[in-house]
Amino acid sequence: MNSNQSGTLYVVATPIGNLGDMVPRAVEILQTVKAIACEDTRHSKKLLDHFRIDTPLMAYHDHSDKKSSHKILTQLSAGNDIALISDAGTPLISDPGYRLVLAARQQGINVIPVPGACAAIAALSVAGLPTDRFRFVGFLPAKSTQRKKVLQELAAVPETVVFYEAPHRILDTLKDSVEVFGAEHSGFIARELSKTFETYLHGTLAELVSIVEADSNQQRGEIVLVLAGREETESTVTVDGERVLRLLLAELPTAKAAALTAKITGGDKKQFYQMALALKD
Ligand code: SAM
Repeated sequence: MNSNQSGTLYVVATPIGNLGDMVPRAVEILQTVKAIACEDTRHSKKLLDHFRIDTPLMAYHDHSDKKSSHKILTQLSAGNDIALISDAGTPLISDPGYRLVLAARQQGINVIPVPGACAAIAALSVAGLPTDRFRFVGFLPAKSTQRKKVLQELAAVPETVVFYEAPHRILDTLKDSVEVFGAEHSGFIARELSKTFETYLHGTLAELVSIVEADSNQQRGEIVLVLAGREETESTVTVDGERVLRLLLAELPTAKAAALTAKITGGDKKQFYQMALALKD
């Protein structure tokens, strides 16, 4: 609840490549707020120039000195609206902003999102892997030993897993994934989403390794890696009920054979009893 006269902190998504993906409300809000907090003022200046937005920029990082967040919170408390953007996509998603949003919430300041592009969601929407449940992991550790450890933990989860990956590490990560998940496990790579050289690769992990290894272009640009969740392995063994029943009928009375067959196969006792009568005939 916003109990005071403070301004609003708008968390504004910006394009992840194609500037045509900038939503009109984002432009409007960025034009009207008192200041825009961003990761890199020089980087964001280019985006703002493109949309003729001349709102002052201020740098913000979650781990920078407390001064920058204090400045933003003071402005908000004084009744000024502030927008938070990141270099690209949705702030806070593997990007700075969490500490600022938390501090604003703790002070009862309104925090409103202006939704737009997010590389993880865009990749997931075209991966062709289950999307009813997914796990976003962000960036994997750079070192193979730690990376494999995280992958091993993830190999046990049933949901689709989404990672951000650096282009110079994609091949090593894919090879580690083969080791942990198996060569036949399904994966998907979304590279350069919404940009000129956007590429989408879907296949088994072994297939993805050979494509990425053979074509160095696949080791360039920005990448989202999506892995299928743990395959739901069929734990039930298919048992031929009639065969079991015939074998048991040779040794046991009809009712007992039918009951045991039902227990072994998980089938219906009465049906096996009827089947037993028919077999005896
Ligand atoms: N907050 C951003 C978002 O909402 O997508 C993500 C920021 S994170 C620091 C940057 C990473 O996102 C890149 O290294 C890459 O893995 C992924 N990414 C960003 N833009 C992308 C694009 N156009 N195509 C593929 N991956 C992208």
